[in-house]
Amino acid sequence: MPEALLSQATLARPAALSGIGLHSGKPVLLTVEPAPPDSGLRFIRTDLPGEPEIPVNAGAVCRSSFCTTLRNSAGVEVATVEHLLAAVRGVGVTNALLRLDGPEVPVGDGSAAVFAGLLAEAGIVRQEGEVSVLTLDRPVAVTRGEASLVAIPAEAPRFTYVFTHPHPAVGVQLAEFVPGRDDFRTELAPARTIGFLADIERMWAEGLALGGSLECAVVIGDEGYAAPLRFPNEVARHKLLDLFGDLALIPPVRAHVLGLRSGHALNAALAEAVLQAAILDREVSCGGHR
Ligand SMILES: [Zn+2]
Repeated sequence: MPEALLSQATLARPAALSGIGLHSGKPVLLTVEPAPPDSGLRFIRTDLPGEPEIPVNAGAVCRSSFCTTLRNSAGVEVATVEHLLAAVRGVGVTNALLRLDGPEVPVGDGSAAVFAGLLAEAGIVRQEGEVSVLTLDRPVAVTRGEASLVAIPAEAPRFTYVFTHPHPAVGVQLAEFVPGRDDFRTELAPARTIGFLADIERMWAEGLALGGSLECAVVIGDEGYAAPLRFPNEVARHKLLDLFGDLALIPPVRAHVLGLRSGHALNAALAEAVLQAAILDREVSCGGHR
């Protein structure tokens, strides 16, 4: 397990970002603030009386259609958390307050790049204390229709994703990400949301994705991609980013996670299945003994 994945860390100073919510189309301000060791991640809705907190864990997932939504015990929600949580996990931040003045994380450009950039520019400081890590003694798999996810016990976290689609512009795409080896900011964060034009028109008709535009998604129509790609396999990379972000709701897992056509709902199911099967161990962070 790479040493960098075992250290607790927070931000050197607060960082703020304004944008619009993908589904609501409304402006929202995100402020990420440093937090003490062992305090973990929490969302705070600053627009509501008493500034209620929403926990960041798999048990708080209340909806997984189009995006991942978290809810606290009082019913207060925060939506579209997956790209922000991917960035937080991807840059190694384990303790932070995620303050929002609305019900949804800003969409940015449909990738995790704005969040990863925001956190990196604020500066990341290591903290004393151990990081919890999950260990599996057997593979864990979840399947729904044509989608599958499996977590195979391994020395350290590793992710592989296969996306297939009959559209000739997509075909079969493979993406891989190894935390601690691959650079999250350049390899995974920039991959944008994928949208098939027919699906986007249907979402618009249902009042969803109002904040979505051709700038914050890779749109695929009959003619192919509506904009130049950032990676030849950008679709698979983004699906891997979503998986990585949804699994940031549980501690890092010593497993090779293989995804095939999975989405948020199956990602949440894998997180639950891994939690039930896993053994939690605590590793000593920087320079410690094992
Ligand atoms: Zn996504």
